[in-house]
Amino acid sequence: MRLRHIKGAEQQIAESPFVIHDPEEQKGHWRDVFGNDHPIEIEVGMGKGKFIMDLAAAHPDVNYLGIERYSSVLLRALQKRAERDLSNIFFLCIDAKEMADYFAPGEVSRIYLNFSDPWPKDRHAKRRLTSPVFMEVYDSILKPDGVIEFKTDNRGLFEYSLESIPAAGWDILAHTFDLHRSDMAEGNVMTEYETKFASEGKPICKLVASRSRQP
Ligand code: SAM
Repeated sequence: MRLRHIKGAEQQIAESPFVIHDPEEQKGHWRDVFGNDHPIEIEVGMGKGKFIMDLAAAHPDVNYLGIERYSSVLLRALQKRAERDLSNIFFLCIDAKEMADYFAPGEVSRIYLNFSDPWPKDRHAKRRLTSPVFMEVYDSILKPDGVIEFKTDNRGLFEYSLESIPAAGWDILAHTFDLHRSDMAEGNVMTEYETKFASEGKPICKLVASRSRQP
């Protein structure tokens, strides 16, 4: 995503009722934020947030949190959010690697990773959202039967993830190298990047993973 500093972004985010400003204080208490005990699902790196807002509209019985680390990008999501009538979604401006500071063990049911930055250089492998470092973070906040759903157009990142995720102690429950022409396409909700890449004829890869060792 092309980043440009937007004047006043931090101020607008600080004043937004759609952003959780003190996420560390909600750790273990997210049901109070939503006012119910519906399952919580998170998109890490939501960008402009179309995917997670579409999910929230389609599933009012699920609570959604969109995580985006850049305020200039989050601001775009907030502009879209203002146009929608949704009561089951909030946003957090945080780095995903700190999620364990904001969520208690077992507090999250599902994590979506959509078109994550590929970080192709070996020396940057730890920054990939499917690296062992991040899988450990997800492990610490997901329910025992919680799942990760990962979509990307980047074949290299996908092949890396097919190895890194099992190496971190997870099972790949399903995967495809061409989502839109597979039986995993049913109910698929498109992200902004997915719409762009699919329109260029690029195949979309998807995998679903859960922990191998469940208590
Ligand atoms: N998920 C959206 C989609 O599919 O249209 C946006 C994809 S965009 C390529 C990746 C987004 O993830 C960027 O907005 C980036 O800032 C965000 N991101 C990357 N690493 C992150 C991290 N560690 N924590 C939070 N956000 C992150």
